[in-house]
Amino acid sequence: MVRTIGAFDRLGDENAFAVLARAAELAEQGRDVVNLGIGQPDFPTPEHIVEAGVKALRDGRHGYTDPTGIPPLREAVAAHVAGHTGVSIPADRVMIVPGAKVTMFAAIMMFGEPGVDILYPDPGFPIYRSMIEFTGARAVPVPIRERNGFGVGAAELLSLITPATRLVILNSPANPTAGVTPKGEINRLVAGLLDHPSVVVLSDEIYDRLVYDGAEHVSLLSYPEIRNRLILLNGWSKTYAMTGWRLGWSIWPTTLTDKIRRFAVNSWSCVNTPAQYAGIAALEGPQDCVDQMVGEFDRRRRVTTRLLSSLPGVSCVTPRGAFYAFPNISGTGWTAGPLASALLEQAGVALIAGTDFGDGGEGHLRVSYANTEDNIRTAVNRIGEFLVEHGTSAR
Ligand code: PLP
Repeated sequence: MVRTIGAFDRLGDENAFAVLARAAELAEQGRDVVNLGIGQPDFPTPEHIVEAGVKALRDGRHGYTDPTGIPPLREAVAAHVAGHTGVSIPADRVMIVPGAKVTMFAAIMMFGEPGVDILYPDPGFPIYRSMIEFTGARAVPVPIRERNGFGVGAAELLSLITPATRLVILNSPANPTAGVTPKGEINRLVAGLLDHPSVVVLSDEIYDRLVYDGAEHVSLLSYPEIRNRLILLNGWSKTYAMTGWRLGWSIWPTTLTDKIRRFAVNSWSCVNTPAQYAGIAALEGPQDCVDQMVGEFDRRRRVTTRLLSSLPGVSCVTPRGAFYAFPNISGTGWTAGPLASALLEQAGVALIAGTDFGDGGEGHLRVSYANTEDNIRTAVNRIGEFLVEHGTSAR
């Protein structure tokens, strides 16, 4: 009998991938499934970015690179960050990673161990909790509340910090709630963190360019008072429709750059070389492709919110970031898990139960509107028909 260390039994999962697989299986059986489950743009990677990757291969750029990333890419990230946040950071604090997720993996591994508390948003991206528990640290949920527009409540988060707290994870704009934490709340949070100088912050800003209705993305990088203990997570996946390229970047405090470099040497060695060249083209090339995507998401966001809110027993806070809606389904009499799976199996609509993002997600579904408007309309119609037929009896 093969035995792994116990940590592997504590690893969680990301149900969006299981739903994607099940939706594909149903489609293969001839079922018509509309997929509002997966969190990735439905647009192709812009042509000039693809061309840069192809050119890199044709130019023979297929060998190993520096584990931290090729210098022109790290410089492009530093320049891009300066352009977006007004904060100048040296390129040697930029780390290129194989997908933004790897930054959370590395950062949580760096700070988690038994006896330590790590705070994470609930509902939130499921990998935070999974990785925290993998390390043996205690995963302490920070409730993300609908009545706060799904932003982080600074006072509540600060009240959860104890002497055991070593890392706090923040995510705005957020998955799955699409909440954007307002600047005032971030100001209060940073002010409170000054009382806890040994607490490190991991700020997941992967959806930074996807904000609507005048919502402002405030980068934690713009607070010099915590910059020496901030790990900033970002990447190309969502902004440039590059989820499958596996490319991300992070910014690390100077004291940690050598540690993360060695972590890379010991694991992924370096990031796929042509993808790194494509990453330069994305950051330095025309940005109207991003504006077009954001414009299209914005249009679909309004349609999705309006349609969802008209369903029996459903209400929906207007999402202000990312490409998700997080409707409240408590009025339908269903709980999230059974409703999500009944919608997939019986109504041909793939979406994710709020509980797949933590206990705090009960009573909600995550609907990704990274799909065509026609498909969104079809999906919401099907949900409506299903609820009319099966809703309101408690399950
Ligand atoms: N952080 C959040 C909040 C996400 O939603 C995702 C992807 O869904 C990631 C990080 C991971 O991004 P990547 O695909 O670049 O690893």
